[in-house]
Amino acid sequence: MDIANPFARPLYVMLKPAGAQCNLSCRYCYYLEKSKYYSDNSLDVMPDALLEQFVRQYIEAQTTPEVLFTWHGGEPLLRPLSFYQKALLLQRQNAKGRHIDNCIQTNGTLLNDEWCRFFKENNFLVGVSIDGPQHFHDIYRCKSFEKVMRGIELLNKYDVQWNAMAVVNNLNVGHPVEFYRFFRDTLNCRFLQFTPIVERYDASGMLVAGLRDGGKLTATSVTAEQWGRFLCEIFDEWVRNDVGEMFVQLFDATLANWCGVPPGICSLAPVCGHSAAMEHNGDLYSCDHFVFPEYKLGNIQNETITSMMYGEQQRTFGQAKRTALPRQCKECQYLFACNGECPKNRFLTDEYGDFGLNYLCSGYLRYFRHVASAMDFMADEWREGREAANIMHSVL
Ligand code: SF4
Ligand code: SF4
Repeated sequence: MDIANPFARPLYVMLKPAGAQCNLSCRYCYYLEKSKYYSDNSLDVMPDALLEQFVRQYIEAQTTPEVLFTWHGGEPLLRPLSFYQKALLLQRQNAKGRHIDNCIQTNGTLLNDEWCRFFKENNFLVGVSIDGPQHFHDIYRCKSFEKVMRGIELLNKYDVQWNAMAVVNNLNVGHPVEFYRFFRDTLNCRFLQFTPIVERYDASGMLVAGLRDGGKLTATSVTAEQWGRFLCEIFDEWVRNDVGEMFVQLFDATLANWCGVPPGICSLAPVCGHSAAMEHNGDLYSCDHFVFPEYKLGNIQNETITSMMYGEQQRTFGQAKRTALPRQCKECQYLFACNGECPKNRFLTDEYGDFGLNYLCSGYLRYFRHVASAMDFMADEWREGREAANIMHSVL
């Protein structure tokens, strides 16, 4: 099974075994402030009994024979190896014939031989957060570049399957090709995800939830124009040289939408609601980007994951991605590819006065127009049973 594309799962819960705790404090981390919701709990880590409950419920909640566990943070490696050994034991005990995979998202700085051996032996996919070359990475990620690179070396040494998760901020966004080549040529990374920073804070210094007006954009956020240019320039580099070799999540998802198949990432899918986040105490939230009190679905100690994930509140949250689209999106020729992107970024008013246009809209429009003919070509190749990579012979 290909576990490089965890977002293609029908239902999954991103688990925070160490809560919002992290050994770094990256400037734009959207998760560190979540510890304020749990300040009465000095431990802030998931107890074993809860882990057991989660593993059992999570497997039972799946509608497919394959189950993907996603360990996230904060920094999940702050939990000891024994925690994950216990989790794997519980998975085996509760699997009932299902195939189980694990992926873990880490800042990479705590990786050592022992962790890497464990990940290899247990077939983990490891996502490493790294924001490009050192002069970009170190600015916002606590000068951790060298430690992250050591971690990546160890992953390679033990032949662990890993991919890179990069944050695109106000600085690296201006250097798309250098950024992309770093992953391709320096890291020899084949699976790349990148996410633009779009963050707003209110007067009390707390993040503003998507779908709400107001707040002040952070200086680290990208502009829509920068985002559009960034995508176009990387696409040009990729489409000429790397199709079929280098898997850029956003390009793959765009092509999937062009072909009419599920895009594999939630941001470009028509609805949300299949990927929740669970805190260390069992609180379940509609999405990792909506860990705010009003988006709490309940706690797995009182309700099951199944009842919460298929309940009315989550269904409404998921469908809102489509039902709350502003008129400009409904009339957009690229709606099939964009779907209004992530609701967390929808806080502009559109040209008709409807609230809820995506802040990155003009960047996406530029990107979709730019890639349209190449996407048409690759989608045709795919429909005819040929390789999308044939595009590389037809572009200059
Ligand atoms: S709100 Fe955004 S991140 Fe959350 S499921 Fe929807 S598209 Fe994905
Ligand atoms: S490109 Fe803009 S108008 Fe079109 S669907 Fe996306 S956000 Fe909406």
